[in-house]
Formats: sequence, structure tokens, C-alpha cells
Amino acid sequence: MGAAARHCSGSATPSAAPRPPVRTCVGCRRRDEQTALLRVVAVRDGTTPGWTLVPDERRRAPGRGAYVHRDPECLRTAIARRAFGRALRLPAGSGTDPADVQELVGQQA
Ligand SMILES: [Zn+2]
Repeated sequence: MGAAARHCSGSATPSAAPRPPVRTCVGCRRRDEQTALLRVVAVRDGTTPGWTLVPDERRRAPGRGAYVHRDPECLRTAIARRAFGRALRLPAGSGTDPADVQELVGQQA
């Protein structure tokens, strides 16, 4: 991991093109365009003690969001690492229920 190495020795894209925002997947930790990732937010409805992770398809929900690829593998890794809790700054020990996200991501599995 060097310091900000900026040269891209891949395909030469004209620098005039606006670069889309890039986010880091909490599963595989790879960076990707925001549009390629699924935004996930944590909500608390009061009926359950923990937080529920819900997909934010339109990326418009208020608060912090975590980004993950729409890939069951990335989701699984993120859950195993409790990466959502960290990315969303949830209090330690607060149970997160990713059922809704799993349902969405797991469609292709
Ligand atoms: Zn990923």
C-alpha cells in the first residue's frame, strides 16, 4: 500500500470525462463505482431490539450508508466481519439483521 499513486497504467480514458463517485465494498474491500454497489442503511423500527439492514436502492435514505456489491459472497463476508456495524457506526453488540439485504442479493444465488 503506497502513498497516493495516481498513475493509471490501464486503459487511457480522457480526463475530461467526469468520474463517478467511488465507494468501497464492505465485503471484498474493493473500490467500485457507487452505481455498481448496493447502498445499505440500518433502521430501527422499535419492535425488535437490534437494527435491520435494508437495501437503499435509490441511495436517498438519510444517515450513514454502507456499500456492498450485489454479490452473495461479498454480503456474506461483510456479515462475517460485522463490517456493516462498523461502517454504519452502530453501537457494538447491536444485533444487525441483514434479512432484507440477503433476500435481495441472494436472488441470483
Ligand atoms: Zn464486494
